[in-house]
Amino acid sequence: MATTESSLREEVAAVTLLLNDLGILGYSGHVSARLPGDRFLIQSYDQSRASLRPGDLLVCDLDGTVVAGPKGLKPPSEVFLHCEILRSRADVNAVAHFHHDLTTAFTLVEGVELRVLKNHAVRWANGIPTHPDPSHVSSPTLGRAVAKALGDRHGLLIRAHGQVVVAENARALLIDCVHFVENAEAMYRAAALGRVLPLSASEVAAFLHDFDRDRHVAKLWKYYIGIGRAKHLLPAEWEL
Ligand SMILES: [Zn+2]
Repeated sequence: MATTESSLREEVAAVTLLLNDLGILGYSGHVSARLPGDRFLIQSYDQSRASLRPGDLLVCDLDGTVVAGPKGLKPPSEVFLHCEILRSRADVNAVAHFHHDLTTAFTLVEGVELRVLKNHAVRWANGIPTHPDPSHVSSPTLGRAVAKALGDRHGLLIRAHGQVVVAENARALLIDCVHFVENAEAMYRAAALGRVLPLSASEVAAFLHDFDRDRHVAKLWKYYIGIGRAKHLLPAEWEL
């Protein structure tokens, strides 16, 4: 687990490259991770998510101002989504925002709602709200509205726009993003077959009874880092 800014930079770069390789992050998704002192790491507006390196990450404060980073690079226009969620949620240390088309489809159809179907989607058993404003989250006011819609939940859909996933650290964030999209894909397929059967409250409770989140995150982190190394996406010298 990252204990220094340097190792956190490597983790955030790895999460970026892997989420991009998985087809989740896309060209304008972003991942942030909290640093001590109300600051966070985030990608710049237009640096390719396919070739990001730890030194490319910007340090921003909770007002979205760049306080350190390569000269001339700007933060994403939606940096305020990260600012306001990190400001309002002390339990959250990593935030992902992306625009995954199939998952976004669940905000586009009347009467359709993304539900918890897969066992690892129990992370969102307390709700997957849909924020009704499709705007780019390009101001503190819009960021606060997203943070309010998220509330104490761990995932959010933004209508006709994208997704937000939050976690306690960057490693868990990678795994949660994978499971969030996996659950949406499962529901899409299941709905094509017939009436979907979301996990019941008792099924969720039974799964959580034996579930060790830290152990699960560690196992899947190892798996995805292994893929990244094998594909030469992740340099051997990064501490992952
Ligand atoms: Zn967006």
